[in-house]
Amino acid sequence: ITILAIESSCDETAAAVVREGREILSNVISSQIELHKLYGGVVPEIASRKHIEKINQVIEEALKEAGVTLDEIDAIGVTYGPGLVGALLVGVAEAKAIAYAKGLPLVGVHHIEGHISANYIENKDLEPPFVCLVVSGGHTHLVRVKDYGTYEIIGRTRDDAAGEAFDKVARAIGLGYPGGPKIDKLSKEGNPEAIVFPKAHMSDSPYDFSFSGVKSAVLNYINGCQMKGESYSQADIAASFQKAVTDVLVENAMKAVDEFGLKKFAIAGGVASNSALRAAMQEACDKKGVKFYHPSPIYCTDNAAMIGVAAYYEYLAGTRHGWDLNAVPNLKLGER
Ligand code: ATP
Ligand code: MG
Ligand code: FE
Repeated sequence: ITILAIESSCDETAAAVVREGREILSNVISSQIELHKLYGGVVPEIASRKHIEKINQVIEEALKEAGVTLDEIDAIGVTYGPGLVGALLVGVAEAKAIAYAKGLPLVGVHHIEGHISANYIENKDLEPPFVCLVVSGGHTHLVRVKDYGTYEIIGRTRDDAAGEAFDKVARAIGLGYPGGPKIDKLSKEGNPEAIVFPKAHMSDSPYDFSFSGVKSAVLNYINGCQMKGESYSQADIAASFQKAVTDVLVENAMKAVDEFGLKKFAIAGGVASNSALRAAMQEACDKKGVKFYHPSPIYCTDNAAMIGVAAYYEYLAGTRHGWDLNAVPNLKLGER
């Protein structure tokens, strides 16, 4: 089975060709970051327009790089939610048009199922069940992956997503957008013990998260320094903030690993490429004798290869969408 996958849920226009679920023949990503940087974040209307401009070219490139024509494609996979509605619609309309014209099955994919499935690409031995921490720009979910396509969300953020917190703190200390990779880099020059930022634990759910408190604490710290006319170290703030966030992510994730007795743990989403988070998770898993899985950075942030992998397992499970497939901006994980 060879799948052409399309992803356009946010600010990356992406297409990939995936064979038998785990072999990536091509993975083309056209990022709009440079464009949105000017505004300090993603502007939905601009994102949709840019997707329309780029999508045909990106798909052509993906086919060319894979060395296949549309005649050799067996199914079309596409992200249909969650995400920005106008952005999603571009990918969904394109996928429907190609599938209709070529008489191919259409498989709609949940974006977060894609992020989780990114782990299958380089870890050929990984199979459910396992626990997965999804940390992206819009989501922070602790997920029990019971089987391919079968998910139970056991914990989630009550407010900001982890990536969102990275981006907001980066903006506050003047690092610009997107902040995650910049905080990661600058933290290497800072002291993670320099400032104690709060770590939120929810008394009623050991697996839930909250990142608005640590974000506010960083803002208050900066304001305090400015009012006293004191200078502050950007690197120390970055490193201390990063530690506060990763500590909580590790603690809650390891509680879930213990609770469900699973010896496999994976991370997914843009923040999963954070070097401090990876190191801390690796250490925690080693201590428990749990195998730690993570995708390479290119498969952590938005891409279509991960959508192709998820589409393959959905295809095997019999998922087929009709020509009425629509973008669902608030699609729930596990819904079809
Ligand atoms: P979602 O997947 O929830 O819809 P999204 O697609 O916008 O959101 P991703 O592409 O998965 O999110 O990830 C982007 C996020 O990852 C941004 O918030 C970015 O700052 C963060 N990020 C990327 N690299 C790193 C890093 N090295 N350290 C921390 N955060 C990072
Ligand atoms: Mg993005
Ligand atoms: Fe994403």
